[in-house]
Amino acid sequence: MKTNVRLWRQLQPHRRAFSTTPQRLDNYAFIGLGQMGYQMARNLQAKLSPSDSVHLFDLNKGAMEKLAQEMKSSQAGGAAVKLADDAAEAARDADTIISCLPEPRHVKSAYGTILESGLPARPKPRLFIDCSTIDPSSSREVAASVSKVLPSGQGAFVDAPMSGGVVGATAGTLTFMLGAPESLVARIEPVLLRMGKRVLHCGPQGTGLSAKLANNYLLAINNIATAEAMNLGIRWGLDPKVLAGIINVSTGKCWPSEVNNPVPGVVETAPASRDYAGGFGIGLMKKDLRLAMMAAREAGARLDLAEKADEVYDTAEADERCKGRDFSVVYRYLGGKE
Ligand code: NAD
Repeated sequence: MKTNVRLWRQLQPHRRAFSTTPQRLDNYAFIGLGQMGYQMARNLQAKLSPSDSVHLFDLNKGAMEKLAQEMKSSQAGGAAVKLADDAAEAARDADTIISCLPEPRHVKSAYGTILESGLPARPKPRLFIDCSTIDPSSSREVAASVSKVLPSGQGAFVDAPMSGGVVGATAGTLTFMLGAPESLVARIEPVLLRMGKRVLHCGPQGTGLSAKLANNYLLAINNIATAEAMNLGIRWGLDPKVLAGIINVSTGKCWPSEVNNPVPGVVETAPASRDYAGGFGIGLMKKDLRLAMMAAREAGARLDLAEKADEVYDTAEADERCKGRDFSVVYRYLGGKE
């Protein structure tokens, strides 16, 4: 029953209903307006009511100003928009602070600024939701500093990395992997559902990132293996579409073979069919693989394929024909026929 209620809630539109009774003011901060954060903040703001506010901050002033302009001129209305001069100013009057930053050092730096600023108390505990893909240890470190600096019960830091890419962020269809105490899930879920369509609670703080990195480790390996198997079959004389069709009804089937096939023309919508443009950048894949390797070392888990995969992504990224392209471009790096 509980699952059905959760599923029903996930399927509902997430714009809050307007009523004639005065609404409680909800203050948000959004820090990190890059490829993902920009779109996520846009969806969040559009689905809030005019009595709410969103404080924006990014080191890139141009991105902040462009987004604020877009939000203000949108027909959708939404929450009031304010620009902040730093992460601390964005967080000062916010109850819910969302961050979407590239790497552990950026997350530590932004939260360092926030916590050092001496945040004034809010009527309800502050909720910090970090959607960045970083390693679980760094995330736990930041969560521990939040608990240390904010008086007991005055704030909590949770991890909610996502999958779905820029396309999902733009459409508001992301899947979030949430690491948070059970007691906070009911408060966090509606916030995330304004930017995505699914929230998977993985366990206590840090476990969202563990789930994300385990998945992306598998993806890193599957992608290389698919590129190698396709290259092999094609060199043996198989037609690429015939081979992919066989794999996709057989035991080798995986997301890279079925959705993101690395051979141009096999899947028309895959980045490979548009010169590997867009998609999941090879640099991000390498970053996630390295985070998984670091977290595996800490957990004492053997990853026998990781070093080789890292070498493949590293060398492929340094190749001008592959740099900045979708990670399926390893097929090109392997010398695959295009
Ligand atoms: P991005 O590099 O496009 O954007 C990051 C933004 O953070 C930039 O605008 C940068 O100016 C800003 N920034 C950096 N340090 C800051 C600081 N201290 N304070 C404020 N702003 C700061 O990155 P992205 O693609 O949006 O990814 C964000 C996170 O989401 C990463 O951890 C990434 O791994 C993860 N992710 C990305 C994708 C994707 O397809 N792009 C998919 C899933 C998850």
